[in-house]
Amino acid sequence: MTKPGDRVKIITSEQELEGVLMPEEKEFIVLKMDTGYNIGIDKKRVKEIALISHPPERETELPKTQPKTGLPKISILHTGGTIASKVDYTTGGVVAQFEPEKLIEMFPELRNIANIESRLVRNIMSENIRFAHYNIIAHEIKKEIENGSEGIIITHGTDTIHYTAAALSFMLKDLGVPVILVGAQRSSDRGSSDAALNLLSAALFITASKNFAEVAVCMHETKEDTTCLILPGTKCRKMHSSRRDAFKAINTEPWARVDFKAKKVDYLKTGFNERKAGVPEIREFKENLEVGIIKTYPNMFADIFQSYKKYDGLIIEGTGLGHIPIMEIDELTKEHTSIYNSVKELIANDVIVTLTTQCIYGEIDMNVYSPGRKLLDAGVLGNYCDMTTETAFIKLAWLLSNYPKHEVKKLYSVNLVGEISKRLEK
Ligand code: ASP
Repeated sequence: MTKPGDRVKIITSEQELEGVLMPEEKEFIVLKMDTGYNIGIDKKRVKEIALISHPPERETELPKTQPKTGLPKISILHTGGTIASKVDYTTGGVVAQFEPEKLIEMFPELRNIANIESRLVRNIMSENIRFAHYNIIAHEIKKEIENGSEGIIITHGTDTIHYTAAALSFMLKDLGVPVILVGAQRSSDRGSSDAALNLLSAALFITASKNFAEVAVCMHETKEDTTCLILPGTKCRKMHSSRRDAFKAINTEPWARVDFKAKKVDYLKTGFNERKAGVPEIREFKENLEVGIIKTYPNMFADIFQSYKKYDGLIIEGTGLGHIPIMEIDELTKEHTSIYNSVKELIANDVIVTLTTQCIYGEIDMNVYSPGRKLLDAGVLGNYCDMTTETAFIKLAWLLSNYPKHEVKKLYSVNLVGEISKRLEK
């Protein structure tokens, strides 16, 4: 007798399919394939469902381990996401549900790398994260450093991990230890999960890199379980919705490559902040700040810009070197004059307006074409910046949380924590 959660082979007249059995639908048997996709098989076609194995029991507690002498102390703070999730066999979906200790028990090698303290901060999918969560995470990091942690790992959903990495980079002044954010594209209970290598590589990097004290993201370098990259917190981005190597460094190199099997760390660039004693000062986000992002596209209307007039800040993700449709060229482009006037009106209303590019790679240069120059005249910021839209958004929100607007205007285009390439700053 098989039940949801069992690994089975389904035999029909045309094929044999192997996977994990999900709760059945009216006329269909639902099977989760090893690729992660669910498929429905018409019950009328099924000749046999053969049991391969029951799901592994994971409920037994491991004995609490004593701290090992000679190993550094690393704190793992869990915030949720797929890395802390497992497949819910009643829905076939992935739900956030691992207890922090259970997650650590799944990767016992961690205990040979460091003395691990593991604690739950939140258990949410990262698309639900708000500025208030950044403040909580920053304070939890500070607590761990006060208690002697030599490095912090934050487990986090991958969807917005790069926003959180950027937020922490700006928030933690005088950070003296590494803070490495780790996610997973496949839940930790699946054979194909990338969680183990990401987590173990982050821990190995913290212990092996005696100097590094930056906020960074550690994720797979390739589709295989070979190496991970340590990516700069303000210059990386999720570039694929499902692949294990979804994260790339943008407009820079990764800090380092970690080969967990060979127990090797290779630095790919220098210039990182070094470790030091002391606890960081936290410069928080204002929780009710309203900052928006508009992506430009053909056939835009001015009303979308006008709807931001009560906001504190707005990022316009324009095209190419930094263009938005503001030129009235013929009888079909009259709306563009209204768009330009709306942008000017926002700035007159004290909304800070900045420009990024949909290209993701490359920088803004508003001096090349006349629309760019018109935007500069209007007071749009961001010229010569190569920040991703996500980092620009976080930077603008953080600046608005901590500085008066005239200072925000000056600081936005200045490299503060590695978010703008040095070459451009010059
Ligand atoms: N939606 C999930 C999250 O960002 C996806 C993931 O963790 O990979 O929390």
